[in-house]
Amino acid sequence: MLRNSLGERPAETQIGAPINASGKLDQVGYDLRGPIHEEAVRLEAQGHPILKLNIGNPAIFGFATPSEMLSDLVENLSRAQGYCEAKGVLEAREVVAAHYQDQGLGPLDLDHIFIGNGVSELVGIALQALLNNEDEVLIPSPDFPLWTDTVHLNGATPVHYLCDESSDWAPDLEDMERKVTPRTRALVVINPNNPTGAVYSRETLNGIVDLARRHDLILFADEIYERILFDGCQHIPLASLTEYQLVVTFGGLSKAYRAAGLRIGWMVLSGATERAQSYIDGLSMLAAMRLCPNVPGQYAIEAALRGYQSIDDLIAPGGRLALQRDQAVRRLNQVDGVSCVKPKGALYVFFGIDAERFGVRDDERLVLDFLRKEHVLLVHGTAFHWPRPDHLRLIFLPQLEVIDEAISRFEGFLRHYRQE
Ligand code: PLP
Repeated sequence: MLRNSLGERPAETQIGAPINASGKLDQVGYDLRGPIHEEAVRLEAQGHPILKLNIGNPAIFGFATPSEMLSDLVENLSRAQGYCEAKGVLEAREVVAAHYQDQGLGPLDLDHIFIGNGVSELVGIALQALLNNEDEVLIPSPDFPLWTDTVHLNGATPVHYLCDESSDWAPDLEDMERKVTPRTRALVVINPNNPTGAVYSRETLNGIVDLARRHDLILFADEIYERILFDGCQHIPLASLTEYQLVVTFGGLSKAYRAAGLRIGWMVLSGATERAQSYIDGLSMLAAMRLCPNVPGQYAIEAALRGYQSIDDLIAPGGRLALQRDQAVRRLNQVDGVSCVKPKGALYVFFGIDAERFGVRDDERLVLDFLRKEHVLLVHGTAFHWPRPDHLRLIFLPQLEVIDEAISRFEGFLRHYRQE
């Protein structure tokens, strides 16, 4: 018995050495339980409603999953009771293959398509199957931090290349080139980008492919926001630009299809697959070790990729997402000491603050101070491995009036803010 009737532990279970987390976590900064989160929980427990502009989870802001996806899922539930193939249900992988073949990838081998419990799980598998301790991986700064943390978890070293705010947050190819070493194995490209909202031009993507070819790097293309594009912007899949490099393209249901809770993502290998058999065998083994991905959710993939694209109505001029983006950008740029580049895709604005003027040396503290004072939750830029404490990220998923309210509170807060 672990506890007596008073809920106390017997004394003998309290002795012994402290039980510590693995040292492999030392470098991981994925901040789910950090001071900001704890403070938000504490404030909520005291009865203060918090405006949460920190997580790109469309469903909680009233962006519903398309109903045909849900009805397909429900109709197929009785077929989804057992494990499926380790790489995912064959029909679902066929739909994913056709989606990318239509965009100029391929022909694709169904054995090179893996469905996973979100892109997050697949990033873990893709890096674990590849990396040795001495390897380096080029990752954008700012990044979606899962990439950096997963490289750390696998004992390898993330090396950040800069994205340039003055060029609409395009990757700085010269910086990228300077950071290649004999140990660099792979290059991560997030397009459309979280957190900057950048959508890369063909010229930039060709430059990346050229660099990858010269240094023989594997390309990881995280394209989960491929259909969230504004102002008529076009998304060009990185893998459509090369046959000679191995490209691993990631996509999923969490964003454009507003179904993050289903935990469905996929990765597709294309290009130089013939010289990647050992890596593909490694991926297959890791995929088999998790038995299989969530089965019911896979029955929503066909309706998502082939059905009516209701996301197009949301991102078109006058659509809900487009209006909210415009409002967030307009209001932020009105705030004294704040500036932002208009995002062309995804769900975020990564805006600059005049760190010198407000004496900001610690952007996490800025977010914490703002949360305590105004009960609005943002994310600090250094959480995305941005090198300076001069940016914050806001999501534009909430309704216009919530965005307005949050930015007005930030405006009022900054007027008197100075970090000592
Ligand atoms: N990649 C990027 C760039 C993201 O922004 C996110 C989530 O925010 C993910 C991957 C994770 O997606 P999933 O829900 O499929 O795990």
